[in-house]
Amino acid sequence: MNIVTSPEQMQATALALRRAGQPIGLVPTMGFLHAGHLSLVKLARQAVPPSASPTGKSTVVLSIFVNPIQFGPNEDFNQYPRNFDRDCRLCEQEGVDIIFHPSVESMCLQDPAVFVEETALSKGLCGCLRPGHFRGVLTVVAKFFNLIQPQVAVFGEKDAQQVRLIQQMVRDLNFPIRIIFGPIVREPDGLAMSSRNTYLSTAERRDALCLVQSLQLARSLYRQGERDAGKIISAMTQKIRDIPSAAIDYIEVVDDATLQPVQTLNGAVLIALAVRIGKTRLIDNLMLPDDHLCQIPD
Ligand code: AMP
Repeated sequence: MNIVTSPEQMQATALALRRAGQPIGLVPTMGFLHAGHLSLVKLARQAVPPSASPTGKSTVVLSIFVNPIQFGPNEDFNQYPRNFDRDCRLCEQEGVDIIFHPSVESMCLQDPAVFVEETALSKGLCGCLRPGHFRGVLTVVAKFFNLIQPQVAVFGEKDAQQVRLIQQMVRDLNFPIRIIFGPIVREPDGLAMSSRNTYLSTAERRDALCLVQSLQLARSLYRQGERDAGKIISAMTQKIRDIPSAAIDYIEVVDDATLQPVQTLNGAVLIALAVRIGKTRLIDNLMLPDDHLCQIPD
């Protein structure tokens, strides 16, 4: 496994691999890896199988970069958990070929003037409460696409709005890259894995289950025939209000393609929520009717 820190070296390596006919799969992360990230590595390898390459080899790149431009001024950029040595061991075990771990200075110019901004899907949900967040995400992901030259990039459904925005960017800006959605990997009790779960105290860790439990409730109401988004949101809100440490940022039922709120659950919808447990902001979601990517336990 190679560790590359220089963007120039990453791009030179990627271009040489591409010239040699070797496909590249990319998994972008902010590090502090868990089983959710590692599941995306497996999907990346499956998507660029060595056997299908003319050289009999493929390359999986995992990037680790806590991207300052996607954090707001009062968010947790400085506290965000980091453990590069542990991440390296996990990547080695998982068969990652290259870790791309650039410095903030090498990725973020002093005087940037060009950004990638999506103007539709990014307006609601997390985009509303985190102004500039998705502009920061898309700008850095576009830079990674140019530096790493992947044919395939894998993103988790955990960040449902993010993966849809990236798909939109790839479509609108003609990146020759296939985007794969990875299912949400959960702890045995159903909590969606997240690097931020490490912020939770023992009591908060228990309280954090209210996110998945509210989605379980939404799914059971849906299965009983409820199609009124307002009623589903009220039931979820009530469930979360029962937990004193929980504060709701949003609970929304949106059209899966446009991310616009719907009143009636017809066709493919996404139920997405962001809840603060103490100081920790957590997100989770459920797609309906096809919920296989969300892996909500029964
Ligand atoms: P992060 O390091 O949190 O920025 O996440 C990097 C990638 O891993 C993103 O595409 C996330 O959607 C994905 N990811 C994070 N948590 C999970 C999870 N529990 N299951 C699957 N993918 C995840």
